Amino acid sequence: MAALTLPALHASHGGCWLRDAALTGSPSTRAVGKGDAIMAAADTPLLLLNAPLVASRLGYPDLSGLDLLELYAFVHPARFVVPTPKGLAHALNLAEPASDDAVPLLLQEAAEALLAVCESPDWAEREGAWTALQSLVRMRWPWATLLAPRIRRPERAERWLFTRLPEWEETAERPQPAQVTLSGEDVEQRLAVLTGRDAEARPAQRAYAREAAGMFAPRPPRGTGSGQPHMLLAQAGTGTGKTFGYLAPASLWAEKSGGTVWVSTYTKALQRQLRRESRRAFPAERHGKAPVVVRKGRENYLCLLNLEDALQGGFAGRAAILAQLVARWAAYSQDGDMIGGDLPGWLGTLFRKRGISALTDQRGECVYAGCPHYRKCFIERAVRASADAELVIANHALVMVNAARGRDAAQRPTRIVFDEGHHVFEAADSTFSAALTGAETIELRRWVIGPEGKSRGRRRGLSARLADVASYDEEGARAIAQAREAAEALPSDGWLARLQENAPIGPLEALLAATRAVVHARDESGGQEAGYGLETEIAQMDGAFIEVAGRAQEALEALRQPLARLALRLEAIVEDGPDWLDGPARARIEGARGAIGWRTDLVAGWIALLSRLGGPADPDFVDWLAVERSDGREWDIGLYRHYLDPMKPFANTVLAPAHGVMMTSATLRDRAGGGRGDSPDNGDWDSAIRRSGAPWLDMTPRLFSAESPFDYASQAEVLIVTDVPKGDIPALAGAYARLIEASGGGALGLFTAVRRLRAVYGRIADRLARAGLPLYAQHVDPIDTGTLVDIFRDDPRASLLGTDALRDGVDVPGHSLRLVMMEQVPWPKPSILHRARRLAGGGQAYDDRIIRARLAQAFGRLIRSADDRGFFVVLSSAFPSRLLGAFPPGTPVRRVTLDVALQSVAGGVSGASATIANAGASAGSAGDFS
Ligand code: SF4
Repeated sequence: MAALTLPALHASHGGCWLRDAALTGSPSTRAVGKGDAIMAAADTPLLLLNAPLVASRLGYPDLSGLDLLELYAFVHPARFVVPTPKGLAHALNLAEPASDDAVPLLLQEAAEALLAVCESPDWAEREGAWTALQSLVRMRWPWATLLAPRIRRPERAERWLFTRLPEWEETAERPQPAQVTLSGEDVEQRLAVLTGRDAEARPAQRAYAREAAGMFAPRPPRGTGSGQPHMLLAQAGTGTGKTFGYLAPASLWAEKSGGTVWVSTYTKALQRQLRRESRRAFPAERHGKAPVVVRKGRENYLCLLNLEDALQGGFAGRAAILAQLVARWAAYSQDGDMIGGDLPGWLGTLFRKRGISALTDQRGECVYAGCPHYRKCFIERAVRASADAELVIANHALVMVNAARGRDAAQRPTRIVFDEGHHVFEAADSTFSAALTGAETIELRRWVIGPEGKSRGRRRGLSARLADVASYDEEGARAIAQAREAAEALPSDGWLARLQENAPIGPLEALLAATRAVVHARDESGGQEAGYGLETEIAQMDGAFIEVAGRAQEALEALRQPLARLALRLEAIVEDGPDWLDGPARARIEGARGAIGWRTDLVAGWIALLSRLGGPADPDFVDWLAVERSDGREWDIGLYRHYLDPMKPFANTVLAPAHGVMMTSATLRDRAGGGRGDSPDNGDWDSAIRRSGAPWLDMTPRLFSAESPFDYASQAEVLIVTDVPKGDIPALAGAYARLIEASGGGALGLFTAVRRLRAVYGRIADRLARAGLPLYAQHVDPIDTGTLVDIFRDDPRASLLGTDALRDGVDVPGHSLRLVMMEQVPWPKPSILHRARRLAGGGQAYDDRIIRARLAQAFGRLIRSADDRGFFVVLSSAFPSRLLGAFPPGTPVRRVTLDVALQSVAGGVSGASATIANAGASAGSAGDFS
């Protein structure tokens, strides 16, 4: 059966189209109702693109069929495709469908094209396909029967994935970097080589690069003994060229000193951009090694042992098919990165289960050298490669975790550029916090005890992982047994249901039940917030609660002690070096020691949190109780502790041991009242300095600032729409729809609440689709955020709605993004943590800084290059003038009615706006309202 002999279905918000199988005469495509489409899908397997998305468009979750994306993942694993009809057409060199009704034919042609690839002698990803297909046939994967006649049996047995992957090599430890001072001329010359421009161009970028070079100078001494890192805070407006600005000195220093520079980002989009741009700054290979390595947290990478387990029966049904497709990908992947790497972001969502995360090392259960795939492990390879690299591209969280509990002190970063530096505070806030919750404690129980009851899989408890230690060392064996016994006090499967029935088992579940009761009793929302999280501060707790907390504390102490003893025993065994302790065993025990060490710290943090419950509050911390809910369902309960200022632990663990640190961003400084000027002593730096952590080490960072070279006065306009009433969802939805229509798509709509996002989306998606304007939304479409942005970028008529993650995760230069809309002023959520920081940070002024930063980040999405044009629209009847400093100097700002805004957007940035300016609008520019 050829693919063209299969019917194909396409469903969008604009309708459904079904194309007959090309069996007879002239097949046709016809518009059908949702009911007919569902019936057709039930009758025959239909060709579809992105089955979960089609299912959600049809409102029929059980839809199944022959999904082109699954076929693509099999035929071209690790190859990028935007999962839309247009994206598929581009990837396969087929004609783009002009309209929705042309899509079913495209699906038939695409299926035929992909199947034809399998018959071609040039198929680049042939190896392994025949073997994988045999398993997929047994699993009754719908595509298997169509593929079987097209894939010939190989003459020789194919190399199995686990033999095909290369092994990493152990290398000698690197000497410490040479002490080098970079001259300004050399840095500028390197910059000119990277940018391909003569050294005179872009003076701001040159000044920035020279300033950045200072962080690589030898560390000066401070007082007695320890040194003090060089620290630079550098604001560089969009378009300054900051990436090459710091890569120029970084690459020069790495080359001259033999050291490693870490560049840390907050978003995956910037990480991808850095990977691309660093190719010009560093050679592809030096002495047989990769100079640039992307490094992420362990939980991002495929764990081969988990995959092997999944392939050998650990996964069943659809999840088993996913495992086969992941195995195909793993053989061709650049680095095994499953989250934001070359595994298509959409693959996991096609299978609707949490299959992808189950294949990573989420729970820290790695057995290191005890693993048969240790020498091919993607994670171990990345760790070793980064030790040898000249540039490591990482994220803020990993840099902090590595500094706080890295396995190897020699591998800790000492020269760090924090790009997207305005997010360091947030990253530190989550890294250095403690959460004693049901979800966290049950994880710990599973890690210590291993699978219980009917659980399947390869997961092993502590005693199985350290069986050799137990048989060799009596005290170690005793500690393992005691830890195992103490872990029984932690919550177990079914804890959430038991709490809801008020029938907790054990001291920790009793604590969580008491927590839940207190939170509900103190809830003041009067049911208004039904479905969203609830919280209450840890204050005025009654005696009964303190008693329950005391018992939980004792139980945790009973677990902490044997874990701490076990860590000491492991250390002693490594030092003793018994006969059986060969290289692999040593690596495994050191790995276990690290894992036990940070879990002991985790438990100690929980104990500290509980121990303060009855006493006076610690001014360094903010503690609260919470019930986490989404869509009306409780999913976690617990006690939380955050630093009032997380930059304190950041300063001690990350800054103090470093030699050079730079924080850079387009929005580092605050512009209270539209502050202008580049003077480094400008008061606008105050909050940036505080939020850098430098004051905790009595350091005064160097400051640098460069304005964006863009001409915001002619490239952008801010429109504050004053006549859409707050809280009126139909009016908000109507305004969004009309604005998107006026701009012909290309709009990014930002929300501060998922609830309003969904309500607006539900009201306008069909209307826009009928006008040929596709609308996508985070939290609605079954598509991961990275893929949503890819889809948005690829289609200038598409629009995208989303929340926080899109405020700075979107880098879409050009025509695809020409309108950014905010539903209201982005006020901070009035949480307990926020209240405490607001109190400590100056009240209203603190809030204003946060809002200005959010507005600046959102505005920053709009103009990414000198050719970009666009509008930034805030729907707010009362937008305080003191927030206007958020926008770059010179940006025109007008307060207008919706009608005027629509005319402006329809007319484009230049041209129409000038004539509209007087039509009932008050005009000015950013800063004029201060
Ligand atoms: S070494 Fe650890 S992470 Fe790597 S494949 Fe083995 S168990 Fe998984």
